[in-house]
Amino acid sequence: MVVPVFNEEDVILTTHERLTSVLDGLPLSWEILYVDDGSNDASPVLLDKLAEGDSRVRVIHFARNFGHQLAITAGIDAAMGDAVVVIDADLQDPPDLIPELVAKWREGYDVVFARRAIRFGETWFKRATAAVFYRVLNRLTDVEIPVDVGDFRLMDRKVCDVLRALPEHRRFVRGLVAWMGFRQAEVEYVRQPRFAGESKYPLRRMMRLASDAVTSFSTRPLGWPLYAGAVAGLLGLLGFAAFAALFAASGKMMDVMALVLSGVVVCTSAVLVSVGLLGLYVGNVLDEVRGRPLYIVDRAVGLRREASTRE
Ligand code: UDP
Ligand code: MG
Repeated sequence: MVVPVFNEEDVILTTHERLTSVLDGLPLSWEILYVDDGSNDASPVLLDKLAEGDSRVRVIHFARNFGHQLAITAGIDAAMGDAVVVIDADLQDPPDLIPELVAKWREGYDVVFARRAIRFGETWFKRATAAVFYRVLNRLTDVEIPVDVGDFRLMDRKVCDVLRALPEHRRFVRGLVAWMGFRQAEVEYVRQPRFAGESKYPLRRMMRLASDAVTSFSTRPLGWPLYAGAVAGLLGLLGFAAFAALFAASGKMMDVMALVLSGVVVCTSAVLVSVGLLGLYVGNVLDEVRGRPLYIVDRAVGLRREASTRE
């Protein structure tokens, strides 16, 4: 289990109790890895106490607050299990669902994510922005990122290994997992209100997550000025030709104005086109810099050398 924790003193002990009782009911050995994301309340002390009393509990303390996605990343990096389940510390993701995730994994799925069928205890604003966000994101990207799915999920060891090998800095973990492929299944659940404490995702952070998600998985917006410029340029040229003819026929001052204006549109469109072209190049640079593997092999049959992702 990987549990990101940021100032969760009110809830963390209850969460731990619920987690251990569910895990003890499963026929497998487990560890819980808490990642204290630079909390400045009593959470670090509480976590250390939990770890003292139980060798299956481990804690990573960040030097400062690095954010939810990086806390999850650190947890997955350090986890040792054959499968890793990421779960929020605030009991919004019900631990009771873990056996179901594990059952699907046993069936042979590599990623089992939990879809929020209903969300309780969240403001309409959060639900509406989340709903719009996931849908816009899917429009913009070629990777199908599951709608209404958070980071609450089970991942097989091989998925975690690929995730660990990805060098990119701006990490939108659920997008990366979707991008990878493998056999993915989903389980539905009812999202509960936060058990205690308040959301650590104010609007500013949500927007940052959204922009990371879009920029990590789509370079399409970079090309938009190109298309806008091409259309504007075409219309401008048509206008220019039309007004030039009109002016030649009438000799009216009004038509000269329109002629000049369509000239301006043509010039502006040239700027747009060059910005868009630049965007295409920047997009390619971005793809190279991110250093994602070109492909990921699940299994190879009859190959002598171990086929794996390309270094
Ligand atoms: N969290 C974290 N670092 C942060 C913000 C949040 O580790 O900078 C943890 C938090 O403790 C919780 C999970 O990430 O376990 C989800 O955060 P939260 O419940 O505040 O987000 P929400 O459910 O409101 O989207
Ligand atoms: Mg929460």
